[in-house]
Amino acid sequence: MKKREIKIFADFDGTITLQDIGEAIFNKFGDARKVDKIINNLLENKISSKQCWDELCDCAGTVDLNELNDFVNTMEIDETFIAFTEFCDKNDLEMVVLSDGFDFYIDKIFEKYRLEGLKYYSNNLKIEENGRLSAGYPHYDADSPSSANCKRNHIINHSSDEDYTVYIGDGNSDKEAAQYCDFIFAKKDLARFCSMERISFYPFSSFEDVQNKLIELMNKKNLRKRHQAQLKRKSAYLAE
Ligand SMILES: [Mg+2]
Repeated sequence: MKKREIKIFADFDGTITLQDIGEAIFNKFGDARKVDKIINNLLENKISSKQCWDELCDCAGTVDLNELNDFVNTMEIDETFIAFTEFCDKNDLEMVVLSDGFDFYIDKIFEKYRLEGLKYYSNNLKIEENGRLSAGYPHYDADSPSSANCKRNHIINHSSDEDYTVYIGDGNSDKEAAQYCDFIFAKKDLARFCSMERISFYPFSSFEDVQNKLIELMNKKNLRKRHQAQLKRKSAYLAE
């Protein structure tokens, strides 16, 4: 019998990290009231995630690179995530990190915690010579306005219909993507969304919870796929 392939997709900000680093950067370097308003517009679906980041970059004004580096260095991750990556390695579970945040700080955080080998997809953030921030969106898809880095496309590209897919997330940019996966681990906004939409999920507060639940699932004789996720995948293929 073919070994079960389990593919894991994890959000970065607020899921792997304790704080949403993208938001924290703009709250620190931008005008906090304007930042709040822009983020609320995103949460109320008045603007897309791409528009949101562009407006936030505008409102940050000029940023000192050393100050920004120091700030990012104060950020922390859920410490149980490190053991979780080891658990995935040991069990041949492929993990891909999908972030609607930026490579600039993800690289720094992975370096800080010696997690440089992890595969991830995100948006790009550059500091221009004049100190202005500018964002790039190499994985943008206009069909997915809630995430400038189209997480759904990465999930479809990195898994087959036979694989069991797992999504771990907490926020707005995970709402669409999670629906394409068989097992959803959710907290905060994503958990509220799943409850409201009657999408089944496992609540979690740390990666230790995720790991324990995955062990349980992996030991099951018959692991069932989520029918709604299969339908979503099918409709994505048909739309292409
Ligand atoms: Mg998040």
